[in-house]
Amino acid sequence: MGRLYAVEIVYRGIFQKTLAKNLSRAIVLAAHREGKPGISFGRYGDSPERNGIPAKNFAIVATDDLTLEEGMAQYEPKQVDVTIAVDDTLCKGVESWAWYGLQPINRLLKPGGTLIVTSHEEPSALVEMMHRKEHPYRLAIVKATPSFSGLWVYKDDHTDVRILGALAKLMPELFSLIALQEVIAAEWKDQLKATSALRAYERINTVDVQPTQGNPEKPYQFEFAKWHEMREGLAIPSIPRGEAVTDARSGQTGGYRPARNPTFKKFTTRTMRPVVDFDKCIKCTLCWLQCPDSCFDVMPDGMYDANMEACCGCGVCEAVCPEANCITMVNETEFRDNASQWELWRADKEGYARWVSDKIAARPERSHGFRFRGQYEQQVPGELAGARDA
Ligand code: SF4
Ligand code: SF4
Repeated sequence: MGRLYAVEIVYRGIFQKTLAKNLSRAIVLAAHREGKPGISFGRYGDSPERNGIPAKNFAIVATDDLTLEEGMAQYEPKQVDVTIAVDDTLCKGVESWAWYGLQPINRLLKPGGTLIVTSHEEPSALVEMMHRKEHPYRLAIVKATPSFSGLWVYKDDHTDVRILGALAKLMPELFSLIALQEVIAAEWKDQLKATSALRAYERINTVDVQPTQGNPEKPYQFEFAKWHEMREGLAIPSIPRGEAVTDARSGQTGGYRPARNPTFKKFTTRTMRPVVDFDKCIKCTLCWLQCPDSCFDVMPDGMYDANMEACCGCGVCEAVCPEANCITMVNETEFRDNASQWELWRADKEGYARWVSDKIAARPERSHGFRFRGQYEQQVPGELAGARDA
């Protein structure tokens, strides 16, 4: 029996769909040039992709046809040699839409496998975000801003070939740099992209991550019910009513927290989160009314606290808030927990003001992707120059 290689690409639905497809397809094409058959496919979840929802593509490559056929006799790989995360906020965990709870980004990695992340963060910052793994693995960072685009347009900032160049270096048994250069010449016909792949190949390096490193939180676990354990018929529990919220400090009542799905952690969709400056809030209710995910808890003092377990980071609340700098969207990589901002503010208002001004220094671009014609023509040359200097 020959050898089977599996690569998964974890990406944000819609915004990075073409990027993920480019990666899985080029992996198979490059391996094929060296006599290794392969297949590239997207995983079917029990929901369509939605903006920002974590989704997956796979590239499976074998040393011969029979091994490939044998390896494909399953729904999706149970273990992978390489995981590619094309947005560093995915390191906090991923959940495709409402079907099996938050899962660690490194969940499928084999012992000694490699996790490639596009990020400007240092390895230590990413390791802190990722769940602990029972065995060591390698972390490699392709220095890049997460590349988001739209459904019908693609931001060709070379993230695809830079990741492929890094992969050629880290896993030469999958495909060589020469095979990759041939694929770039045939598919993209762009010498600049070939140069970007070469630069990434030359510069990539790895750090080892040990089982003692990372987020110690226990990931969500589940077991499929056996057929004889299943209930007769199908009953979908309705969402219960919410609960009253009381201020533990003053005893004041009158708050309200809507009930939420305890399993589906929508926050894995988030690449940025709202930071609320409660001292600026005029209690106009607009954020609470307009939030598409009912994320705001109404606090006993009439403030609105965006619940970070539920917020998917869409930015609507920032857009509708009438007070300047009252709600500011901030890069998700700046945070390590989902704690209540209102509780922080209540505990120490001066400290909270310092925390807010520190956090809002890290404001991302106010869009996940395409907004106007000519946008990428403006942005990409500068980004490519930055990538060359990195
Ligand atoms: S960013 Fe604001 S509006 Fe959007 S889901 Fe989060 S709290 Fe709601
Ligand atoms: S929209 Fe702004 S001012 Fe209005 S309640 Fe929300 S945070 Fe306060």
